[in-house]
Amino acid sequence: MSLNIRKKSNEKALVSYRKITKSFGDRTVLKELDLDIYPGEKIALIGPSGSGKTTIARLLMTLEKPTSGTIEVGGEMLWHMPHKGKFAPANEKHLHRVRSKIGMVFQHFNLFPHMTILRNVTEALVHVLKMSKSEADERAMRMLERVGLHEHTKHYPSQLSGGQKQRVAIARALVMQPSVMLFDEVTSALDPELVGEVLDVIKGIALQGDMAMILITHEMDFARDVADRVLFTDGGIIVEEGTPEQIFENPRSPRLQTFLSRFL
Ligand code: ADP
Repeated sequence: MSLNIRKKSNEKALVSYRKITKSFGDRTVLKELDLDIYPGEKIALIGPSGSGKTTIARLLMTLEKPTSGTIEVGGEMLWHMPHKGKFAPANEKHLHRVRSKIGMVFQHFNLFPHMTILRNVTEALVHVLKMSKSEADERAMRMLERVGLHEHTKHYPSQLSGGQKQRVAIARALVMQPSVMLFDEVTSALDPELVGEVLDVIKGIALQGDMAMILITHEMDFARDVADRVLFTDGGIIVEEGTPEQIFENPRSPRLQTFLSRFL
């Protein structure tokens, strides 16, 4: 569904960044970023290395704290809650609940090497969601089937290819049924011949699911195919955003034109 259709229906944003600034020391990486992501919307973040894309994702995952500004997920503040008329840091319990709405897959798979594929996927179901082992197994098996790995459930990560490991990481995040999934350059560490199978799995999920997705990617064809909206970041701001057609066929800013010319 395109952004324009969403806007017409007056749907409330699932994720809202408001005037988010993030600095590391005296280096400002994001400058007063405003960003709304709607339920089910697929957005692609493109832009040069160092432009702040991963920081946008890490802030949402609460792996980084903003220097200033607020982020809301499902109407709840991530880092700041009103307290006696002032903003105070959110407590761990609150963070835990909000964080459970968000799933993330990283460039490096971060699987547990000593656990089977099935256990990697059931771990959080049993220990975080407190699901029974049989229920967790059932849900994990369904998810592993969806990513084409149901025949590898008893294997260990070291027995799988990079593409297969990344599909396990995707299943492990998806099985928690988040409202929004972040994919941060999930194919950058893979051998070229393994990229397609991972992108195909993500495309399949995008087509089936009503989950929102944030795709940080250097795969422009993939962004064009999957995203409802593409955002180009450079120098800590969103320089340009639009439908894939607007961004790829008709880029307006010289910075975006230069960036895209590298992919021709
Ligand atoms: P991108 O994902 O677009 O490549 P990042 O968000 O990873 O960009 O990084 C933006 C800038 O922030 C980079 O210059 C990077 O070096 C810097 N940066 C990111 N994380 C840290 C950190 N923990 N400490 C210091 N600088 C950081």
